[in-house]
Amino acid sequence: MQVSSNLFAWEGRDEIRIEGLEIYAHHGVFPEETALGQKFFVNAVLYTDMRLAGRADDLSLSTDYGEVCSSINRFLTEHTFRLLEAAAEHLAEHLLLTFPYMESVKLEIRKPSAPIALPFSSVSVSVTRGWREAVIACGSNLGEKENYIREAAEKIEKDKRCRLMRSADLIETEPYGGVEQDNFVNGAFLVRTLYEPEELLAFLNRLEEEAGRQRLVHWGPRTLDLDIIFYEDAVIRTDKLTIPHPDMHNRKFVLQPLVQIAPWWRHPLYRKTALELLEQLH
Ligand code: ATP
Ligand code: CA
Ligand code: CA
Repeated sequence: MQVSSNLFAWEGRDEIRIEGLEIYAHHGVFPEETALGQKFFVNAVLYTDMRLAGRADDLSLSTDYGEVCSSINRFLTEHTFRLLEAAAEHLAEHLLLTFPYMESVKLEIRKPSAPIALPFSSVSVSVTRGWREAVIACGSNLGEKENYIREAAEKIEKDKRCRLMRSADLIETEPYGGVEQDNFVNGAFLVRTLYEPEELLAFLNRLEEEAGRQRLVHWGPRTLDLDIIFYEDAVIRTDKLTIPHPDMHNRKFVLQPLVQIAPWWRHPLYRKTALELLEQLH
């Protein structure tokens, strides 16, 4: 499977454009809108790598825009949303889950007959959504350590909003942080995901809970620990979430697996690649 170093790169490159797709549907806040329906117009820009399909002149290697139009029509006629925002959000996810070569999509939904008591030509919303690349570090030092990590990988792969692109080899490491405890098994996963960072954290916390994780001692023994090391080149600092992980550059047990699966990744604050961060630690 091909792994790019930057998904956003597609967004400046190959595009398929669909303009003015007319759909009769029933979205709206007012009862007469959901009862009678009205016309909507959809513009879509599909970001997809077209090189292979273009070279081979083979539709099966590309995203079939006829299929995309039918899929948009079906989705917007079979569902009813109060808000255009919701229609756009759900439709974007539906398309990204349905068409495997679609890296991201820009959708504009226009409602020219919206109930506004003033002269106007049209209202619309526009969203851009896509698969994002992230690295998750994993660790275990209680019970069937490898098993906990293997199960986490399987659950990540099974989740429709995640694609497991690469897994690092598991390594055995000494405990970190001064608490006397058993050795760790550590690894890392490169994923593509439709989850926003906070949603990804919630998903990983759920996997930790399902592995019976208990938080008794900070940096203490655990069946499963899943940390977000990076998410694209995002820099995030909230009460719940710090990305990139604030201590990753000091941890060989994070950097070593990271270098195996994403040596090119550049720390957005220190401006060094994973490989350079590891070399700096030695
Ligand atoms: P460390 O983060 O130093 O490796 P830890 O993994 O043992 O320590 P936990 O008890 O697993 O710490 O997590 C404590 C909190 O850290 C979590 O509840 C989560 O909200 C927060 N957190 C902040 N940034 C991240 C991140 N990038 N990945 C995972 N959790 C994070
Ligand atoms: Ca951790
Ligand atoms: Ca953690």
